[in-house]
Amino acid sequence: MTPSSHFENKTIGYISTRGGIDPVEFDTALLQGFARDGGLFVPDQIPEFSREELAGWKGLSFTDLAHKILRPFIPSHLIPDADLARILEHSFSTFSHAHVLPVKNIAPGDKLYVMELFHGPTLSFKDIAMGFLVRVMDYFLAQRGETLSLILATTGDTGPAAAHAAVGCKTLDCYPLFPLGMISQEQQRQMTTLGADNVMAVGVTGCKDGGDDLDLVVTQLFADPQLRDRLRLSSVNSVNWCRVMFQSIHYIYGYLNTVERVGDPLAVSVPCGAFGNLFGGWLAREMGLPIHQFICAVNANQTLYRAFNDGIFTKADLIPTVSSAIDIVVPYNFWRFLYFNCGRDGKKLAGWMDEFQTRGRVALDRETREAITRGFVAESVSDAETLATMAGLYGDHGYLADPHAAVALTAARRQRKHIPARIPILTMATAHPAKFSEIISRGLKKEANDLPPVATHPELERAKALPEELDPCHLDQLAHHLITQISSRLTGKG
Ligand SMILES: *Cc1c(COP(=O)(O)O)cnc(C)c1O
Repeated sequence: MTPSSHFENKTIGYISTRGGIDPVEFDTALLQGFARDGGLFVPDQIPEFSREELAGWKGLSFTDLAHKILRPFIPSHLIPDADLARILEHSFSTFSHAHVLPVKNIAPGDKLYVMELFHGPTLSFKDIAMGFLVRVMDYFLAQRGETLSLILATTGDTGPAAAHAAVGCKTLDCYPLFPLGMISQEQQRQMTTLGADNVMAVGVTGCKDGGDDLDLVVTQLFADPQLRDRLRLSSVNSVNWCRVMFQSIHYIYGYLNTVERVGDPLAVSVPCGAFGNLFGGWLAREMGLPIHQFICAVNANQTLYRAFNDGIFTKADLIPTVSSAIDIVVPYNFWRFLYFNCGRDGKKLAGWMDEFQTRGRVALDRETREAITRGFVAESVSDAETLATMAGLYGDHGYLADPHAAVALTAARRQRKHIPARIPILTMATAHPAKFSEIISRGLKKEANDLPPVATHPELERAKALPEELDPCHLDQLAHHLITQISSRLTGKG
């Protein structure tokens, strides 16, 4: 019996969470980013993998596993097997660890495991899906002789991952936008020192709400279909279905590399910002992965915490924290999650999105609340606790966590009291500690020049000596500035 066999005949189509478009194929969903009706792309069905199939995948390399999981989502008439394998190999050849995403048992007595998602070229988990997404875009564009302008707002790690992946792609221009002064120096330099003529980093001043302010400008640009076509705009923010789809793979890989037998329960703790990573976890569970519990870990920015605990989806002012990559007040992938958990009712979801836009607040109905909390809990972690966890884990176990992993590890330790002791908890470590050396200094109470060697990384050291190319701009002028820049670049190309 192979439950996934019915997908051999039926290709997955992609529809919008707002229900306003006819199904499109994978390449269209990928290249458009946003659906034309302003909704997010979702598959019209989710493949299921049986326990036997999953068990048969234990021991596969990350790229071979990725191939198996992606195949039902991407029909082979669009990307034949050999090409898919080549793109995957290419995307992960830049990862420095032999296991790509290693799992480590950091506190054996407590069954606390960490999966390190940060051994890619820009040292954050964003490299996992972004490397693949950019290369697949390039694959389709090259076939068609087309180009795209990628605009992406970043809270620090998306920009570097996209920019790095885009270097050398003739089909793509990349415009990473970041709130100036609100990301780490290391992150900024990963975008401004590439010396690539198709990467134009824009440092934006006046962002009271950080990355969320930038998301609004991007959304506004995409809302104008003529502009979108003229400037050939696309997005690789985690609105792009390809990213969240790809982010289901590391849950399956992490599961297979943590449990003894396939079928055993596992809990997973994830530091959440825009909810793209954890959406991938939910997707993996839908596909058949036996996850006992997801822990949605946030910092003082509690939008997701309130949604899971009170059933109210509402934003508040942004609070800058030591885990800046998850300083997000509107986790836009939550809309996708709500779509699937409200019975795939596009009308209902469109109503909620509009209500949120006008009133900034949506009260979820009882059924949806029950659906979203099935196997999900949320924890909110203060900066003081994050720093204490970093110091404690380093002192007790010699393990140095970055501030985002530390948020999720704090949440995992709190939940350890409620989750049966036999069930391991796997925490997603989303960034290399060296990306946040200032915060590490504060956590470990050590001077910058006295940090342990794991708090530095040769690539980041190298970037310190390179000249920066930075295009500064005020938020009020951003839309205009981008339109001018992109137009002149496209005209220059003819
Ligand atoms: C982006 C990011 C997150 C949050 O991931 P989402 O998919 O936005 O929830 C967590 N940690 C780090 C280091 C990140 O860069």
